[in-house]
Amino acid sequence: MSKLGCPCGNIISDSAQKDMEQYWGYFIKNKEWFDYQEQLSQLLSCLFESYKDGSHVEWLVKNCPVYSDQPLKGIISDIMSRLDHGVGFEYAECKKCRSLLVKKNGDENIYIRYQPVKT
Ligand SMILES: [Zn+2]
Repeated sequence: MSKLGCPCGNIISDSAQKDMEQYWGYFIKNKEWFDYQEQLSQLLSCLFESYKDGSHVEWLVKNCPVYSDQPLKGIISDIMSRLDHGVGFEYAECKKCRSLLVKKNGDENIYIRYQPVKT
């Protein structure tokens, strides 16, 4: 998807890097976040232990076969992106009306609008 229409009439783009960084994000439930952190720390602990005992080549072939010849930064990035896939609810904030359009979990292009209210 490259554009999302807000009910106010504004079009929200996900193709411009600046807009992507400023107006798109994720809501993550605490349980999902804690599970992600636990899985990540477990995998990184195993990775670092494998470097310490010299078994990292075997560990990488088993756990990151595509990236086993990459620098450590790329391997860690791959591990993180594999674990965070499917975690949280994607949302976009409308620049015009400040509504949040939250992607309905599991559905490709269904967004629920949460509109700010004045108090
Ligand atoms: Zn809007």
